[in-house]
Order: sequence, then C-alpha cells, then structure tokens
Amino acid sequence: MRLSSSASTATKPTLGVGGPTPSAEVLERLRAAKALATDALLIAHNYQPPWVQDLADVTGDSLQLSRIAAEHPARRIVFAGVRFMAETAKLLSPTKTVLLPAHDAGCSLAEAITADDLRQWRSAHPDAIVVAYVNTSAEVKALADVCVTSANALEVVASIPTLREVLFLPDVFLGSWVKRTLGRERMHVWHGECHVHAALEPGALETALADDPEAVVYVHPECGCTTSALLVDDPWRQRVRLLSTTQMIEAARAEQHRRVIVATETGVLHQLRRENSISFEPLRADATCPYMQRVTPELLLGALERNEGEVTLDPAVAEAARRPVLAMLDPTVRPW
Ligand code: SF4
Repeated sequence: MRLSSSASTATKPTLGVGGPTPSAEVLERLRAAKALATDALLIAHNYQPPWVQDLADVTGDSLQLSRIAAEHPARRIVFAGVRFMAETAKLLSPTKTVLLPAHDAGCSLAEAITADDLRQWRSAHPDAIVVAYVNTSAEVKALADVCVTSANALEVVASIPTLREVLFLPDVFLGSWVKRTLGRERMHVWHGECHVHAALEPGALETALADDPEAVVYVHPECGCTTSALLVDDPWRQRVRLLSTTQMIEAARAEQHRRVIVATETGVLHQLRRENSISFEPLRADATCPYMQRVTPELLLGALERNEGEVTLDPAVAEAARRPVLAMLDPTVRPW
C-alpha cells in the first residue's frame, strides 16, 4: 500500500504556467466554430483560462457542470477541464458524446491514488465506508461507497453513522478538515494532495491576514493552509472562510468587505472580478494549474469541429463508478 505524502504524476507538476490569451482573430474563429456546433454544449471549469471561460456556455465546478450537461438537450458535451471531470460528465450522461479537448490533462490529486492502492487500503479495513472526493479516476470511484465534493463533504460524512469506520481519499487537507470539523475518530485520510493547493501554505495565509487587516480570505479546503485556517485565533478567525469555488462565487455576491484574498487556483479570480466591484487578489499569484492550462484554441476547434478527444469508459467500470456519485446526490440510496 502506498500512502504518499505528495501526489505522483506522470509529468513533473509545476505552478504559474498560464499560456497567452489567443489573438482577437483566433477568438473570433473559435466563436464561429462554436456557433456552428449547435449540437454541442461547451462547459468550462472555474480554473480554466479566462478566454476559455468567456467562450463557454456555462462555467462552474466539475459536478455542477456535469449535472447541467446531463440535463441539457445537447448531444455532445465539450468539457474544458481535466480528465476526471470529463469522466464524471460521462458517468452522468452515458449516452452522450463527452469530449475533453486537452485529452492528456490529468490531475496531481486524482493521480495520488490508484485503484490498486484503494483495493489494498480497503482490504485492511473491510468494514469501512469508502468516501472518494470527485477528484478521482472512474476506476477509483468504482471501488468507493460514496463520492463528495468540497461543498458537500461535511454533509455526506456527517450522514455516516458515527461508529462506522471511514476511509477518506485522496485529499489530505480536505479529509483532515472534515475529520477535525466533525470530530470523527474512526476516520482515516489518504495522504494525497493537489500540488497547486498544497503550495498555498499556512505562512502565506497568516501573512495575508496580518498585512491587510481589512481583507477577508476565501480558502479552498484543498489548500495546504486549511488546517491553519481552522486554527487561527480571534479576531482573525472572523476573516477566514473555507469555501468551495462555487461557494466563493456565491459568497462574493453578498460580501461586505471591500477586499478579498483568494486561496485557490487563480482561474476563479476571473469570474469573481467579472461579477463583482470589490477587489479580489490571489494568495499566491502563481497558483496556476498546469493541467488546466493544456487547453489550446486548436484543441477546442478539434473537439467542436471534428469530435476529437472523446472520453470513453469501460461499461462495467462506468456502472460501478456511477453508484457512489448517485449516492452522493441522493441520501436515500447511500449504503448505510
Ligand atoms: S487544481 Fe489541483 S485538483 Fe484541480 S485539476 Fe489542477 S491539479 Fe487537479
């Protein structure tokens, strides 16, 4: 069994590798291609580059987008994001064509645990409920009992009987936050991490709070500073909010403070700034996900015009992986 303290990836994870915005001519070509692709819905994750978010029909978090796509009449779903996200869309829309333009876009967090890792871990805890963050491969989801997002992890884990043992994977920061918040003792957390969020460290959070006494800080629960965010003393505690990306966008609409420091991938700043008149600054300006940056105009055109980048899943894996996703969405089908 591998209990890694950092995620394993096929390529060396980096930060701050955002590409240039395409020229006006290229953007016009993309808009024209999208207008012709009347059977396609272009959905973009909140961490995608701004020009992709502006081109998309819908932006949001991965589960939100997958649910919207499932209910939309479009026959093709073009998912500007990374692989586990497109797989989740395919799970919820099995009869639709799901296209991932950046077909090799992985995720350091999803790659922190494999199906074999989980089989071994589970065999050592045969009675445990396995809780998988949606940032996992379909093969890993297929071995889980229920999935969670950063927005609903507390609610889902709280619904598991207190005496049941819980295996939470793969994010150590999110899992530790859930465990601490709920005071669950029989909960084991896999030591995986997203290298982008892990780089948002406690020292940076404390410095931001000290340097700008008028600002509030929005912290994503995947961040390395999550534990620190929970432990900061008054009066700082009143200025720290642990929020998923969707919750950040909602919270910003009612924000009373004039300045917000944002501790997550910098792509979400685009929507926050576009929709609100207050100031949003990143905790780290180079907190940019290299996988999210793999999308290019050529790859988007390939998906929109030539159906390139289709995501397919083994039918047995897909059926097994759909079950924990549905258990997350519908408490009446949870296996406890
Ligand atoms: S920001 Fe982190 S969790 Fe999100 S896709 Fe990138 S590596 Fe994965």
